[in-house]
Amino acid sequence: MDNLPKALLLDLDDTILDSYSDPDMAWLQLCREFAGSLGDVTAEELQPAVMQARDWYWSDMERARLGRLHMLQARRGILLRALAAFNVPDSPLVTRMGERYNQIRVEAMRPFPGAIEMLRQLKKTGILLGLLTNGNAEMQRAKIERFSLAGYFDHIQIEGELGIGKPDERAFRHALSALGAEPAEAWMVGDNLEFDIRGAQQVGIYAVWVDTQGRGLPDGTTVRPDCIIRSLSDLGKFIIRD
Ligand SMILES: [Mg+2]
Repeated sequence: MDNLPKALLLDLDDTILDSYSDPDMAWLQLCREFAGSLGDVTAEELQPAVMQARDWYWSDMERARLGRLHMLQARRGILLRALAAFNVPDSPLVTRMGERYNQIRVEAMRPFPGAIEMLRQLKKTGILLGLLTNGNAEMQRAKIERFSLAGYFDHIQIEGELGIGKPDERAFRHALSALGAEPAEAWMVGDNLEFDIRGAQQVGIYAVWVDTQGRGLPDGTTVRPDCIIRSLSDLGKFIIRD
């Protein structure tokens, strides 16, 4: 494929926004801030337990889906599991930790360098742009508002608002229908191999994987993106200039 299609669907987190690039450090910061209030456990002991609980939490598709829609509950679930290993019971402190973790993540969130400029250029080409993001309606809307993203998109679709998220094929079909495009006339660009890439390909959309870390396809994955780029800015090479 050399030219941009009629419609382009874009993921938000870790495609346009640098949202989760270093979660382990954010958890460590949280553990350091709260270790003194938790009794006989140090931040360095707690953080690995939180990482284990985090991986366990997001490993189940249904638990993850509910967690994305109720992020504070997800954070609390992770923390409770980790703290149980140190006999720390549930208390309002755990909720405060969950809220503080969300705050740390939100404060660190930024558009990737060049991402907003790329949106501006794409918009100028007249291509139809759709934002297709999973997660809680309020949180995702807040990000769109904070970084003034709404003006670039002809259609904004949030899992928490529609009630359907990626990789469900209905999410892709709904977005295409809103834009008036067929699967063969559309690309999906995103960082998540299962949700963005496999999800789009199952309905016949050309899928562009953003390999933000530059690590290549992970061992063992059966997902094969149609195209791999390092950042959103790389889409510039598909824009015809005259
Ligand atoms: Mg993403």
